[in-house]
Amino acid sequence: MKAGILGGTFNPVHYGHLRAAEEVREKLGFDKIIFIPSKNPPLKTKEIAEPEHRYEMSRLATSNNKFFELSDIEFRLKGKSYSVKTMEELKKSSPGTDFFFILGIDTFLDVPNWWHPERVIKLTNFVIISRPHFRFVDLKKSQYIKINKRALKELDDRKIELYTTKLTSKQDVVLLRVTELGISSTEIRELISQGKSVNYLLPAKVKSYIIANKLYKS
Ligand code: ATP
Ligand code: MG
Repeated sequence: MKAGILGGTFNPVHYGHLRAAEEVREKLGFDKIIFIPSKNPPLKTKEIAEPEHRYEMSRLATSNNKFFELSDIEFRLKGKSYSVKTMEELKKSSPGTDFFFILGIDTFLDVPNWWHPERVIKLTNFVIISRPHFRFVDLKKSQYIKINKRALKELDDRKIELYTTKLTSKQDVVLLRVTELGISSTEIRELISQGKSVNYLLPAKVKSYIIANKLYKS
């Protein structure tokens, strides 16, 4: 069993997350993608909706895809939500599953700022996906991945779709190009606070939930 893990604040969840999850599953042949909304993210404090709202929006967005699963694991763990603790718990509960932690290039570059980054990168395999405004060559800056620049350039230039290598921790990492959707939760929150349309950036059910619960109105 191979499972992709997509962790996020999902504040709110949008088509950038959903399409990326779908493509990772299909392109890498994973059995499922587990969405893990962060209950209490240590690094995010701005305009953050209540964890229960973010969880419910994630449920609405993922429930019609049989390969998507939603995990409440961070809601069951006490204290701040640290990826190390979440992944350790997940591995304990499913010893037969091969987990791949899916991160956008932006998020992978942020790992050194996480709680115990050297433990994070030892925990699982990784999939690093493309995201608009970031390039695979930016990964040259990362201390956790040693990779020749040529492969990174070929990914950026769309000559190859994926490249598999090892992290410095010896875990596998797949660099994968997915359809680039320039959507972010930050932009969606800004549009809502300005009273502008967010149609087609996220599922209609999620939009209705945001309106009904008056989220992000500032
Ligand atoms: P915010 O603007 O609040 O940071 P976000 O849109 O970046 O929100 P997150 O919940 O922070 O969403 O992201 C969760 C994961 O999904 C991260 O690994 C991030 O890199 C990835 N991700 C988010 N949006 C996209 C996108 N449009 N394309 C590819 N990956 C994405
Ligand atoms: Mg983000």
